[in-house]
Amino acid sequence: MISKLPKWAADLTEKTGSIMTDMKILETVYLNPTIKKIRFQGDISRMNFQIGHANVIRVSDTEFRNYTTSYHNVDEGILDIVFHIHGNGVGSRYIDSLEPQDELRISIPRGKKVYNESIKKQFIFGDETSLGLACSILPIMKKNKHQYQFYFELDDENQNIPELLGLENYTVFSKKNTFRDEEWINELPIFNSDEWNTANFILTGNVKSVQTFRKVLKDNLQGNIYSQGYWLEGKKGL
Ligand SMILES: Cc1cc2nc3c(=O)[nH]c(=O)nc-3n(C[C@H](O)[C@H](O)[C@H](O)COP(=O)(O)OP(=O)(O)OC[C@H]3O[C@@H](n4cnc5c(N)ncnc54)[C@H](O)[C@@H]3O)c2cc1C
Repeated sequence: MISKLPKWAADLTEKTGSIMTDMKILETVYLNPTIKKIRFQGDISRMNFQIGHANVIRVSDTEFRNYTTSYHNVDEGILDIVFHIHGNGVGSRYIDSLEPQDELRISIPRGKKVYNESIKKQFIFGDETSLGLACSILPIMKKNKHQYQFYFELDDENQNIPELLGLENYTVFSKKNTFRDEEWINELPIFNSDEWNTANFILTGNVKSVQTFRKVLKDNLQGNIYSQGYWLEGKKGL
């Protein structure tokens, strides 16, 4: 969906029942000042949840943003999203303002296929915006007995968030330019052996980090790579 529309078109889109679902906020939790988890409730029986798909939320008169369902339960009609409250954009400010009992419309999830269950080893890279994807994929990794590894690049104040979210098999890195540096990436343990050579790689988060990591992976390993930048410095509504 386009991130910016004229107000009349945004109104029309938000009213479209086939795409948008009425939801109410049950609970909001700040895991710290920049990570907010919200539990929404509504009739989500028409939603088809696939790993890597995103829901769209209208965040202003004219703008929509993408967010990932981190957990859902169709019988209870609940859906959780983990938001990065980075403070730079209209979406971040809107989400920060949301409180229990607020009502809004959330789109059905859509996107590309990122998970291939036939591949035993799964490697997932991302940042704060990828935490929801990580939470949604973890139970599937366990159920389907994958060998899996998460790499996260996180702001210093967010280093303990994967633990708070109950994630497992993760390594946390600082954001101090590391995943922008091909030589540094080349030294990572995954390139030290053949272990991850044929893995399925899912790279999301910051566009520059994703692009750099993807390049090093392509130069060195043979596995499938799925990559999608979720945000880019200076760009609105990617
Ligand atoms: C498929 C998909 C799934 C996504 N899932 C999630 C999710 O579950 N949770 C989540 O929080 N985000 C998620 N995102 C990312 C989110 O849509 C973007 O971060 C979006 O730009 C936020 O909109 P905004 O209005 O806050 O900022 P924008 O108006 O888009 O951008 C304004 C400024 O803020 C900067 N900016 C945007 N995002 C960040 C950030 N994360 N950190 C620092 N600066 C930033 C931009 O570079 C720009 O300079 C997802 C994106 C995609 C494409």
